[in-house]
Amino acid sequence: MFNSLREQIKKFIGRTEEIATEKEIKEIRILSENVTRKTEDTALHASDKTTGQMQTVKRPTEPVWLTQDAGPSKQDEKEVKLTAMTQIKGIFKKTVRLTEKDLDGILTDLQMDLIQNDVALETSEAILEELKERLLDKDIDKDSLDLYIRVSIKKTLFDILTPDKEVDLLEMISEGEKPFKIIFFGVNGTGKTTTIAKMARYLMDNDLSVVIAAGDTFRAGAIEQIEKHANNLGVKVIKHQKTADAAAVIYDAIEHAKARSVDAVLADTAGRMQTNANLMDEMKKIVRVNKPDLKIFIGDSLTGNDALEQAETFNNEIGIDAVILTKMDADAKGGSALSISHITKRPVIYVGMGQTYKDLKKFDREWFINQIID
Ligand code: GDP
Ligand code: GDP
Repeated sequence: MFNSLREQIKKFIGRTEEIATEKEIKEIRILSENVTRKTEDTALHASDKTTGQMQTVKRPTEPVWLTQDAGPSKQDEKEVKLTAMTQIKGIFKKTVRLTEKDLDGILTDLQMDLIQNDVALETSEAILEELKERLLDKDIDKDSLDLYIRVSIKKTLFDILTPDKEVDLLEMISEGEKPFKIIFFGVNGTGKTTTIAKMARYLMDNDLSVVIAAGDTFRAGAIEQIEKHANNLGVKVIKHQKTADAAAVIYDAIEHAKARSVDAVLADTAGRMQTNANLMDEMKKIVRVNKPDLKIFIGDSLTGNDALEQAETFNNEIGIDAVILTKMDADAKGGSALSISHITKRPVIYVGMGQTYKDLKKFDREWFINQIID
């Protein structure tokens, strides 16, 4: 998972360290040249004092304390040594300071790599801004430079993934009124039906009872598909015939749940192109009629910017509360979670990690970041 993004971040860390080392070597070279020059000047001055014949002393090519013949007095020689040693010691500073100029090239490369790994342009810009803030013009301990860069990237990604408001589903269900109403939105093929089935199983594993509303009354076979999953799991499905009013189907499921004290209603909905006006009108009606406790957008992590665009559209039209990203087990990139979290400011709460019912994993930001940075 996320191999591609992990490789690029590793490359960035390696190159930053290389730049820091090159910078150090360059500084040492410049400073040692200065020391040599100063030492020579002092030696010349010393020779002048002892011999009074400055023009006869050759400018030594090595530090003066190594030359026996230029003849500074013992006292002068000691002073020269001390000054030179002090300066050389000063060269070996414990810290390194990276500037925008030092990292300009590799930061641009990092941004390109992020974009190629499904990170939206706007999100890549935000990542770069925060990284610069953390890395540049700071005295960083050389011995822990690698750790410092890693922690900086981790903190940056953590901020990018932090939503305006956290959503703890199990806590919300246990504290909310019965039934807790969840409506799932998203485009066909993203794994919506499978995810609703996974969620039913997950809630039942947590001792919560569920009923499913077959709210996709548009797509051929959608009702049968959700029924099949529900039968496998032993979950009740409330359905009407195809083309029925989806808002009414979900309403019936809620009434059913109320009558039987069911903990949660999981409602499927139709999903075609998110730009379809009819679809969005239907979604708005569903929300208006049923007043869900939670509106979850389901997106396919493999579709990158498409998933982001869908999330944004659903969010603008109906206002989503949380996100589930599917097929993360097959995602080499990892950028979708970053972009969707950053741009919608809604939390990714679960991720699909395979095709079986148990493959729904609670999304943990630290876990995600640790997959990207070793
Ligand atoms: P829907 O059209 O959005 O309802 O999509 P489906 O639920 O029918 O899923 C479409 C395909 O994606 C199916 O073959 C699923 O098995 C597969 N799928 C769904 N979630 C995941 C996941 O988390 N990982 C993988 N590898 N496949 C998934
Ligand atoms: P398209 O040709 O696939 O874009 O479908 P249209 O937008 O022309 O819609 C055909 C019919 O289906 C119209 O009566 C719509 O009101 C209805 N319709 C369109 N989208 C949806 C939907 O998402 N759900 C449901 N239940 N009906 C829809």
